[in-house]
Order: sequence, then structure tokens, then C-alpha cells
Amino acid sequence: MSDIPQERRVLTAIPGPKSVELQARRTAAVAAGVGSTLPVFTARAGGGIIEDVDGNRLIDFGSGIAVTSVGASAEAVVRRASAQLADFTHTCFMVTPYEGYVEVCERLAELTPGDHAKKSALFNSGAEAVENAVKIARAYTKRTAVVVFDHGYHGRTNLTMALTSKNMPYKQGFGPFAPEVYRVPVAYGYRWPTGPENAGAEASAQAIDEITKQIGAENVAAIIIEPVLGEGGFIEPAKGFLPAIARFAKDNGIVFVADEIQSGFCRTGQWFACEDEGIVPDLITTAKGIAGGLPLSAVTGRAEIMDAAHSGGLGGTYGGNPVACAGALGAIETMRELDLNARARRIEEVMKGRLEEMRAKLPNGGVIGDVRGRGAMIAIELVKPGTKDPDAAATAALAKACHAEGLLVLTCGTYGNVLRFLPPLVIGEDLLNEGLDIIERAFATL
Ligand SMILES: *Cc1c(COP(=O)(O)O)cnc(C)c1O
Repeated sequence: MSDIPQERRVLTAIPGPKSVELQARRTAAVAAGVGSTLPVFTARAGGGIIEDVDGNRLIDFGSGIAVTSVGASAEAVVRRASAQLADFTHTCFMVTPYEGYVEVCERLAELTPGDHAKKSALFNSGAEAVENAVKIARAYTKRTAVVVFDHGYHGRTNLTMALTSKNMPYKQGFGPFAPEVYRVPVAYGYRWPTGPENAGAEASAQAIDEITKQIGAENVAAIIIEPVLGEGGFIEPAKGFLPAIARFAKDNGIVFVADEIQSGFCRTGQWFACEDEGIVPDLITTAKGIAGGLPLSAVTGRAEIMDAAHSGGLGGTYGGNPVACAGALGAIETMRELDLNARARRIEEVMKGRLEEMRAKLPNGGVIGDVRGRGAMIAIELVKPGTKDPDAAATAALAKACHAEGLLVLTCGTYGNVLRFLPPLVIGEDLLNEGLDIIERAFATL
């Protein structure tokens, strides 16, 4: 890790004057469509801290959206990627291959669930991995339909926009979208009309009924689901839902794809979130946490499915870039050495404990409708007190109050009313608690 002191420090307004100056240059030069949660310009980052150009040190509860799980400058990532950078930056794996790519695929075969023969293909972004999972599933099944779920998020390319549930900001004005994509209900326990205890069975029955009646199971190439929904609001499908959907896929020759791009690589206290209910997906898509911040993604799965696409049918100029592969090997080494699954479970214990305490102090929970998530993927859903009406304004106000105190938090959710916490798994417990203190004080300002 870089030697940034692991201490919060607020020296100026946030954003400070140097950030404000850079933001003016950015506004003139960078397309308006690319937003930023907090226009604080980064100077360096590591562990649980982001230091900005004004010298402020923010506590990081975002990890660059679940990416820097090992920290933004993990020793093993920096060492391995730097060595690779000096050796060669690129040859293109499709022109002359290199060992790092193969080694990442070997690690993926070991770490993903199931003891069947597995193969992988590497890409650059999460969206690209999901697109390729669809190509592979279609090549294997010789079918076209793809089933996704309410509140699902799978990326911003044309096909993955179609797979993504939420219109604004991801899809608005960007159509037409790819055909043969169908969306069915998910077991969102907190909002399920008959309660979370019924959601798993009822939602899976509804989803299967819709697939059978509206599409025909025999036309479905793939069912794609996030085992914990990320962008949609950190929704853990109610117990029983994922196994029922996975069983239906198996019984009908449908490729079951777990999109673990946000939930994978120790984030939820397991290598992959689908392990929680013993699910063994046919294909898994990974990205984000895989490479300590370097751009890399993968599709991993059953060898016979992965081999269904003809030679030359998959790939891309940069897919599995050697520096990114070296970063991934460093990140995986760090996860194993520091037992980051155990760290994630400890983060859950601390965060959920404190957030539940905050909720208990408010009459009927006040604005805190739900506290949920697993490992270091924890969220609170904010509502108008006494109802389940989403309160996006309170969510934005809370995030703003945290930012002003030097705590970086993110929001998400279909209704924009979820505050999500994704600290680096290497964050110190003192910083974690200090961040929670700031959240507690922010509630008082509502
Ligand atoms: C972030 C994300 C994606 C898209 O990844 P990009 O690298 O941004 O293309 C896809 N699926 C899930 C679940 C994600 O969280």
C-alpha cells in the first residue's frame, strides 16, 4: 500500500479550491454525460483513504464502485503490474499469447464454485464480459432469448443497456435496444407485497410462469442474474429464489449466468455471492474487484459451454491485457494472504451492528426502512417515516452531509433511495467506525 496516513483530514471545504479549479477545466473539456459522485480530484489513494489535490483525506466507503477491494495501491498489485509494465505492455493475446492470461484463467477455475472442468475468456470491462456471456450461451444453446430481472444492472453498452432495468440515467434517449431480452420479477424481500418470508417462493413461481408463458423455456439461451443486485439497491434475492431459478434453468437446458461483477472476489465475505445458497452457475461474469483497479473482466464456466463459440469468435484487442492480468494475480494473492473474506464478514458485523443501532434509536426506524447486504456490500434503504415510500431527497442529503465531513459514500437503487457502503476490504476498523460516526451525525442533521 502507498504510505498515505490512514487518517481522515479535512483541511478545506470539500471540494477544495484546487478541485474546484480542476472541475472548471473538466467541465470545459469532458463530455457532460460523464458524471462524478463527488468532484474531488484524487492525488493518491490506498487502504481506506483517498487523498485529494487540496490535501484532504477522505474515508473511502466506495472503493471506486466495489473495485479496489485490496486498496487502490496494494503492494502485490503495484509490484506485479510494475514488473509487467517494464517487460511488455501488450502483444494482443490473439496475436502472441503470454503466461499471465493463462494463469488468471487457472485461478478463476480454482476460485469459482463447482468442481467441473472450467475455462475462461478475458475482456476489459464488466459490460463486455456480460455481452460475451450472452454470445457464448447463444452459441451453445442455439437459442436467442435472454432473461433478466427487475432492478438488474449489467452495463452501458447497447446489449447490456437492454439487459439493465433502470431507464434514468442508463437508457434514456439511447435506444433502440437489442431485441430478445425479457425481464421478470425478482424476490425483493423488503418490497414484496406478501412479505420477505414469501418472496422467494412467490417471485420465483411468477418469474418461471412468465418465462414459460411469454417466451417458452425452449427459446431461452440464458438467464442472467446478480446474486446480490448491486446498482438496483443491494437487493439480496429472498432465500429460495436463486435455487429455484437455477433449477428451472438446469431442467430446461438454459445457461444460468451469475453476474458477480460487483458481488464477487470476497466482497460479500465469500469468493462469490452465489455460494451462499450453494448455487453452481454455468457461467460467471467477473470484473470490478478482480484486478485491484486495473481494467479486466472475465467469463468463466463449464468447459463444454465456453468451448461452444468457434475459434476467433471471442476476443478483442486489449482483452486480458498483460498488465491487468499481473494486477489480478496480485489482487488474488492479497485476498488469499490477508483472508479478505474474513475481513468482509467482520465489516458486515461492525456495519450492520451500528446501522441497526441507529435504526433502533429512531421511532419505528424513522427514515431507515431497511438495513441489508452481506460482507462489505451493505446498504440502508431510506423511506418517508412510517411508510415504505422511497425518500430519494433524504438519501441525497445524507450523502452530501457525509461528503462534507470527508466520508465518501455512494447512492444507488431503482428509486434512488439507497445509501450503499462498499469500503475497501483492507480498511482499518478505526476508520470504519469513524465513517459510521459520521453517518450517525448526518442522520441528526436531516
Ligand atoms: C458494474 C457492473 C457491470 C458493468 O461493468 P462495467 O465494467 O462498468 O462495464 C455489470 N454488472 C454488474 C453487476 C455491475 O455491478
